[in-house]
Amino acid sequence: MKSADKLADEPHIGSLMARWERYLSTRAVEEFVDFTMALNNLGARFGELRLPGLTRLCEGLENAAVARIDSPHPLSERDVAALQRQIDTLRGALGSVASPKAEPRRRKETGTGEVPWIMPRGVRIFVGEGMDEVAGNIQRQLLFIGFEVLLSGWVEIEEPERTNLAVIFLPALSGLSPQDSHFIVAMRERYRVSQLFYVGVSEDMDHMVALLRSGIDVTIPVGEPISSLITQVIDLVEDSEKPNYRVLVVEDSRTTSVAIQRTLREHGIDTLPVTDPSKLLSAIAGFEPDLVLMDMQMPQFDGVEATRVLRQLRAYKSLPIVYLSAELDVGKQMDALRLGGDQFLSKPHNPIVLSAVVKTKIERYRGMLRSTQIDGLTGLLNHTASKARLDSLVAMNADSGELSVVMIDIDHFKSINDTHGHPVGDLVIRGLAWLLKGKLRAKDLIGRYGGEEFLVALPGAGPEVALEVIDNIRGAFSALPHVADDSTIYSTFSAGIASLPQFSDATSLTRAADRALLEAKRRGRNCVVSSLEIP
Ligand code: GH3
Ligand code: MG
Ligand code: MG
Ligand code: MG
Repeated sequence: MKSADKLADEPHIGSLMARWERYLSTRAVEEFVDFTMALNNLGARFGELRLPGLTRLCEGLENAAVARIDSPHPLSERDVAALQRQIDTLRGALGSVASPKAEPRRRKETGTGEVPWIMPRGVRIFVGEGMDEVAGNIQRQLLFIGFEVLLSGWVEIEEPERTNLAVIFLPALSGLSPQDSHFIVAMRERYRVSQLFYVGVSEDMDHMVALLRSGIDVTIPVGEPISSLITQVIDLVEDSEKPNYRVLVVEDSRTTSVAIQRTLREHGIDTLPVTDPSKLLSAIAGFEPDLVLMDMQMPQFDGVEATRVLRQLRAYKSLPIVYLSAELDVGKQMDALRLGGDQFLSKPHNPIVLSAVVKTKIERYRGMLRSTQIDGLTGLLNHTASKARLDSLVAMNADSGELSVVMIDIDHFKSINDTHGHPVGDLVIRGLAWLLKGKLRAKDLIGRYGGEEFLVALPGAGPEVALEVIDNIRGAFSALPHVADDSTIYSTFSAGIASLPQFSDATSLTRAADRALLEAKRRGRNCVVSSLEIP
């Protein structure tokens, strides 16, 4: 839980107060609209931080502000005073208050002590009678890939001490009694945000329905290998840290833009307004939206022209673009669609239709991206997608940010294939992929660059932090057991690291990381070399 004084440091609050001050000094309607938009962002931020009280205060203030956008400006002193009172209440609720002018600079991450890589994700397992061995096995596998796993006896009522990603029920083989369902219902209440797994369900309709009714999210059938459970738990990492949907709202009318943004935010969608379409290209590159809502009538160029420009650029060829327009002429609507838009919605927007269309288009778009960007064996980004993602990470951090690029290659992999066969080799590759996913943050790039080569990029990490993080994973991988027929084998990897600003573009970073990797192989493998160490 964030403390109140940390909250007051939130850049969104600084920005809100700065806009209110600007409005007070100019009393211009444009500044008032900017203030309203800042409230919108702040409310979204409180929502993200799961602070319902502050979210509500902020929404109350936002409603009061939105209701006054169309009032005659400058607003009456009474209106200003009413808003000021609500602002003061909000500031009071925050405890100490951020200075309106100085937006705090983000503190640099120093040692790994402060780096969130080290925060393990939690899993709790409830173990039924006779299931200790299976539980131990699951626990070991999850521990190896970086989870924190706690075991409890079957109906031991536990108060969750932390937010667990997953709760796993491993019932005794004898099946589910009525008390057991009560137990699951009670745990559902306690572990509200965790995903609940039930392992060993019979393929019996009544049984499955009973479990789902008790609040189980996923059932794993009897006889399914443990790896299937592990894969699904790992996938949760990505889902739970998946970024919100992002929509770029291109609309020259600020009032309309605010109304659209409100509708989308109520559905958990992040928005960025563009009121000047000549800023479209820079806004889209920085925000990386999942969809563009495009006004048709704008002063400099119209929405169809802006769409045609986007469609000329490779990166935006399949980005969903939805027109919002008062245009009633069906012929003109058809022309607009022929020239690159995906759908036409009429203005004023219907909130339910708008959010439904936006969500469906984005789901399909993300699914489409997934299928062309994800490697089947590991679930990681494939070669092409890793490179594209690296390009955009470098572009985002090139000016002042920190970024380290890592090349990883499994040692003596040919001999694993030769001795134990290709399928065992595949297991080792998947083991490393799991470990990387389990140990790194959702915002880190993890790609399968080639057969047993991985590309990793860590935004916010300089050479020392990257070395520490990757060396920690190297140690964990060397201790990770892989099951080969009836024996257990171990494997190691070597890695090379290159960082900004020593190298300034994706190509030279990758090349330097490759050279450092070669050096690591030369030094005898199972080690990590930074390009700072080699001439
Ligand atoms: P080094 O320590 O120098 O890296 O030795 P190495 O044996 O790992 O050498 P190298 O990296 O050149 O060998 C990679 C081998 O990985 C060659 C290829 O047969 C095997 N390989 C590539 N893709 C896959 C895959 O998807 N599955 C399996 N099982 N093997 C693969
Ligand atoms: Mg317009
Ligand atoms: Mg190789
Ligand atoms: Mg190799």
